[in-house]
Amino acid sequence: MLRLKSYLAGTWKDGEGEGATLLDPSTEEAVATTSTKGLDFAEAFAHARTVGGPALRAMTFAERGAVIKAMSKALYEAREALIDDSILNAGTTRGDAKFDIDGATATLAYYASLGKKLGDTKVLVEGEGEQLTQSARFYGYHAKLPRPGVAVHVNAFNFPAWGLAEKAAVALLAGMPVISKPATATALTAYRMMEVLAEAKVLPEGALQLVCGSAGDLLSHLGPQDVLAFTGSADTGAHLRGLQNVIGRSVRVNVEADSLNAAVLGPDVEPGTETWNRFIRDVSTEVTQKTGQKCTATRRVFVPKAKIDQVQEALAEAMGRIVWGDPRAEGVRMGPLASKQQLDDVKAGVAKLLEGGAKQVWQSDASPVGAKGGKGFFFPPTLLRADDPRAAAVVHEHEVFGPVTTLMPYEGNEEPGELVALGQGGLVASLYSDDREVVANMLVALAPWSGRVLVASKKVADQATAPGLVLPSCIHGGPGRAGGGEELGGMRGLDFYLQRTAVQGDRGLLERALGMR
Ligand code: NAP
Repeated sequence: MLRLKSYLAGTWKDGEGEGATLLDPSTEEAVATTSTKGLDFAEAFAHARTVGGPALRAMTFAERGAVIKAMSKALYEAREALIDDSILNAGTTRGDAKFDIDGATATLAYYASLGKKLGDTKVLVEGEGEQLTQSARFYGYHAKLPRPGVAVHVNAFNFPAWGLAEKAAVALLAGMPVISKPATATALTAYRMMEVLAEAKVLPEGALQLVCGSAGDLLSHLGPQDVLAFTGSADTGAHLRGLQNVIGRSVRVNVEADSLNAAVLGPDVEPGTETWNRFIRDVSTEVTQKTGQKCTATRRVFVPKAKIDQVQEALAEAMGRIVWGDPRAEGVRMGPLASKQQLDDVKAGVAKLLEGGAKQVWQSDASPVGAKGGKGFFFPPTLLRADDPRAAAVVHEHEVFGPVTTLMPYEGNEEPGELVALGQGGLVASLYSDDREVVANMLVALAPWSGRVLVASKKVADQATAPGLVLPSCIHGGPGRAGGGEELGGMRGLDFYLQRTAVQGDRGLLERALGMR
C-alpha cells in the first residue's frame, strides 16, 4: 500500500507506526497510510528559518513570481495524475477534481503575474509618505517587508490542492517559507503535488515543506515572526487561536471556518426570467458541487413568501437531475462525502435541523450509481424548508457540510438582511435581483455580514461566476462565525505575511534605502 511521507528539511521523512489510513470514499478501500509520529518539526522550522526564508528574501517580487509561475506549470503538467488522485482519495467527480486542481494552478498563475507586476523590488511602500515636522526633510513612510519567520498552513479536507496552493502562492510571493499541512483524510493529492514540485526543483530549498498526517507538536514551534493560516472547523480554529504560544508570542493567525452562506431571491424576480433561472441553477450547483463540501456552498436560501412553493418545485427538479454515485460511473455528477466522519456529521446535522424546526421537502430517492455492496459514504441531495426562519434558530447556527440546503420565506425588503445576519457572519451571500433599489438596499444590509457579496442580475446572468467560486483577486474570508479572516484579494493577501513598519528619517536617505529612488 502507498505510504505518504512528509517532506521536511529537504527530504521525505516517514513517521513511526502505521498511523492513519486514507480511504477511497466510494468503495471504502484503503489507498494509503501515513504517520507523523516521531518527526522532528523543530528541525523543519529551523530549515525554513535558516534556509528557505533567507533564499526567498534574497529574491525580488518578480523573481518570486517566476518561482510561483514554475510551480503552476509543473502542477499543470501533472494535472491528469492529480485528478486521478482526487477521485481516488476524495471521491470527487472529474469536474469537482478539476475545480480543486485547476483552481490551484490558476491561483498560482495569478500570484505569479502579480509578482511580475510588482517587479524588481524587495520592499513595498504603502501610500505617499508624509512630512512629520516643520522640516521638509523629516519624513515618514510605511514599509512592508517579509516576516523572517515561517508561514504554517493548516488546511481542511475539502480542497487539498487549492488549499495548499492558494495559501502557498501568497506566502511565497510575500517572501515567507511555508510548512503546509493538509487534512489527513484526503492528503493524497497534496502529497502528489509536493512530489511533483520537489522533483521539478522549482522552489528554493526550504521554501515549501509538507506535513502528511496529524499535526503533533507542529504548532508549539510557532514564534513571534511566524504566522498561522488555518482553514477548517470553528472548534479547531478556536482551539488553535487559544494555544499558549500563539497568544504569548502574538503569532499572527488567520482563520477560515464554518459559514452559513445565504442566497437571496429579490422580490422583483419572476419565474422563467434569466435571473430566476440563474438563481435556481446556482443554488442547485452550490448544493451539489463537491457534494456540498465547499465552505462557500449555499446553506440558506431566502425567497419571497409568495414564491416559496414555486422555488421549491424548481429546485427539487434541478437537484433531481443530478446523477450521484461513484464518480467513476458513467454520468455521475456528484460523488460521495469524503469520509465516514463527514457522512456521520451530515446525517447528524440533518437530524439536528429537523429537530430544530426545519422539515424535509425533497430528497433524491435514487440509489448511488455504481456503488457496490452497500459501501461508500454516499448521501443524497436534500432540500429542507423552514417556514418560520426566526423560530428555526439552528438553521442559522449549524452548518451541514454536505449536499443539503434549507429554503426559507421572507417578507418585505428589510427581512432578508436580518435573516442573513442570524448566521452571525458568512463567507458569501448571493443576491438575485434586477431592481436597482432592491440591490442598493440589500447590498448595504448583506455586506457587513459577508466576506463577499455576489449580485446576479439579468445583464450578467450568463457571465457571472457562481457564488461558491473563490477568485484570487477578491478576498476570501468572512466576519464572525466564518472565522474573521481574509485570504487572497490580490495584493491584500500579502499583508498577512508582511510586517508593516513606520520608518521615519531623512526623506532622501529613506527613499534610497527603501529602493524608491
Ligand atoms: P477540522 O477537523 O477542523 O480540520 C481542519 C484541519 O485542522 C485539518 O488539517 C486537521 O488535521 C487540522 N487539525 C485538527 N485538529 C488540530 C489540532 N489540534 N492541531 C493542529 N491541527 C489540527 O476541519 P475539517 O473537518 O477538515 O473541515 C471541515 C470544516 O472546515 C467545515 O466546517 C467547513 O466549514 C470548514 N471549512 C472552511 C473553509 C473556509 O475557507 N472558510 C474551507 C473549507 C472548510 P487532521 O486532518 O490531521 O485532523
